[in-house]
Amino acid sequence: MQNLDLFKKDLKKFTKETIKKRSHKNNDSEKYDIKAALEICKKGWLGISAPQRYGGGDKDPLWTYEAIRIFSQEDITAAAIITGQFTLVAEILINECQEDIKNNYIPKILNGAISGCYALTEPDAGSNPSEMKSRVEKTKKGWILNGQKMWITNGNIADLAIVYAKEENMISCFLVDMKSKGISKTKIHGKMGFKSSDTAEISFENVFIPSQNRIGRKGKGLNVAFKALDNGRLGISVMALGATEGIQKRLIKIAKNKPSQKNIEDVARVEVMIESCRSLILKAIKLKSNKTNFTKYASMAKLKSTEAATKAANMLASKSTDKFTNRVWRDVRVMELFEGTSEIQKLIIGNITTGFKAFN
Ligand SMILES: Cc1cc2nc3c(=O)[nH]c(=O)nc-3n(C[C@H](O)[C@H](O)[C@H](O)COP(=O)(O)OP(=O)(O)OC[C@H]3O[C@@H](n4cnc5c(N)ncnc54)[C@H](O)[C@@H]3O)c2cc1C
Repeated sequence: MQNLDLFKKDLKKFTKETIKKRSHKNNDSEKYDIKAALEICKKGWLGISAPQRYGGGDKDPLWTYEAIRIFSQEDITAAAIITGQFTLVAEILINECQEDIKNNYIPKILNGAISGCYALTEPDAGSNPSEMKSRVEKTKKGWILNGQKMWITNGNIADLAIVYAKEENMISCFLVDMKSKGISKTKIHGKMGFKSSDTAEISFENVFIPSQNRIGRKGKGLNVAFKALDNGRLGISVMALGATEGIQKRLIKIAKNKPSQKNIEDVARVEVMIESCRSLILKAIKLKSNKTNFTKYASMAKLKSTEAATKAANMLASKSTDKFTNRVWRDVRVMELFEGTSEIQKLIIGNITTGFKAFN
């Protein structure tokens, strides 16, 4: 694969010719764009930063984040193809699983043959996953899983799921084959935003999990979950940055057509937001590339970038009523909620900064 500048040129071309063209139709039909997902995989972009031995492109994480940023300038849900499959699923397998599981699943995820989902949230356990009710019981050959998961991205289409459940009184993490007996899925329709991203409610009734399918050690599931959320939150902050850049492109056009003080001032405000979000995000990406803990920076980047995107979308909504404005205004709001709401990001940042936990 070429250098980063040529890669970005290819991403922009694909965004203009494919993502932008399909964005409104996908949104209106509430359909996950499987065709776009397969094209992204075929081009090698889903696994651009994954190790070569699993079929990846072996590039610095920055390459993945550039794809997420550029897609998000036109359609955040297209970037969610990468965040949903790579940062939340494939990266867990790369970081946490035994070699046979990695070899079996990662190349297939990266080339689009199969897909996965990340199932942490439950109807009564969102911000505080330790309240989850899903549980496993040990058997001779593995575990039996019972429980319910809610708001699961790609849950209807996934071939495998990374599921968190209580094992005795501690939370463990498991790889679950979604074709197993006892799994039922319901598509969640009518979401406020992220309409073309697939979302499911999933029930597990006496689902068998073989003994080699626990990810990480017994009772250490939340370590896996939180490490994955560092990657996920960084991905969302980049989606929010891309969305803000897309909004800024429209605000500049409006200001050029009507150079009032208000229009020019709004462009200036968004320009400052973009630069400050970019600095935070680049710092987080650098820490990640250097394999240094980046939990605090991922949370700060998510908090700052998603709130900035919402502010920018509000500005655009006061000047434009087109389809992009309607869609992006709804989509950016959702990014303030998932993978930890803004309130939860503040608790994480405050905890790391002071050493005091406000909740368990
Ligand atoms: C489109 C979409 C896709 C999603 N995809 C996934 C997925 O793939 N996998 C997955 O596991 N989950 C997913 N989620 C779930 C998402 O991560 C949760 O919705 C989120 O963590 C919030 O949980 P909750 O909805 O239960 O809200 P709650 O936890 O009930 O929170 C409600 C409100 O209370 C506030 N709050 C809660 N606790 C505190 C506190 N201690 N202090 C201050 N305020 C607090 C919150 O900030 C929020 O405003 C998705 C959600 C959406 C909307």
